[in-house]
Amino acid sequence: MLAVKIMQEQGVEVEGVAFVTPFFSARRAVEASRAIGLPLTVVDITEEHLAMLRAPRYGYGRNMNPCIDCHILMLRKAGEIMGERAANFILTGEVLGQRPMSQGKQSLHVVAKRSGYQPYIIRPLSARFLLETTPEKEGMVDRSRLLDIQGRGRKRQMELAERFRITVYSNPAGGCLLTDPIFSKRLKDLFAHDSNMAVRDLELLKVGRHMRLDEETKIIVGRKQRENEIIRELSEDRDILIRMKDLPGPTILVPYGCGDESLRRAAGICALYSHVPPDSKAVAEWSTGGTAAYVEVSPAEDKDVQGMML
Ligand code: SF4
Repeated sequence: MLAVKIMQEQGVEVEGVAFVTPFFSARRAVEASRAIGLPLTVVDITEEHLAMLRAPRYGYGRNMNPCIDCHILMLRKAGEIMGERAANFILTGEVLGQRPMSQGKQSLHVVAKRSGYQPYIIRPLSARFLLETTPEKEGMVDRSRLLDIQGRGRKRQMELAERFRITVYSNPAGGCLLTDPIFSKRLKDLFAHDSNMAVRDLELLKVGRHMRLDEETKIIVGRKQRENEIIRELSEDRDILIRMKDLPGPTILVPYGCGDESLRRAAGICALYSHVPPDSKAVAEWSTGGTAAYVEVSPAEDKDVQGMML
């Protein structure tokens, strides 16, 4: 928001671009654009992002977040949009030194260079520390009115927000599931076991408890009613759905099905979470492709189940 305002103050016409994948949404960009009256285009980059995510050239951060490669991809896409719109340059709100991995001086340089649009990328908040860009050289942008903010502090940004009368702004952290340790563990497991994953498989990573029964079988256990509903909504004909026949409890999804032995184990886990007493049996209903069947099971043991958790 501040970067946009700084450029608008120079008379530059700005349009916003935000990117979405199953890992992050454009919600905050939409809110920010609304707050400052900025036209915004939202672009889904799932396919390219997934391809990059499997083997990021610059590696991952603390979790499965490939921030440098992700920024490169976003700037490359922004560059393509710049070309399509016959715009003159790209600006970002990045601040030198604000994030250790992706906003150090070297990273900002690498990101711009690798995107293929380096001469056209201005970071108005930290531009005075960075190389002069083509629009600055050509007089389209007055470098002396760009800023020299650096570091993790937000004091100067707060002051600027006040000057521009921006009162609605979001916390800088969070928002991307790839920085979440639990989500990252599940994603790593999916990468290791499913080379043909679909977007639906990524959506499933966001819901329920995940357990790996064996190399071929993972199950997803709903923890509350809403999660059971989501699991059912995301299920497909070739999956198996399990729940206890006459007891309240979780819905379990076995993506892409499994063999009899794994089915019994999954049904036992369903019985455990449906509070079937350890020394008794109960009937589980399982269904696939619209047909249902029943199996009598004993509940799994909690200690065994803990070891399967992703
Ligand atoms: S936090 Fe997520 S969205 Fe942001 S750069 Fe890193 S991977 Fe990309």
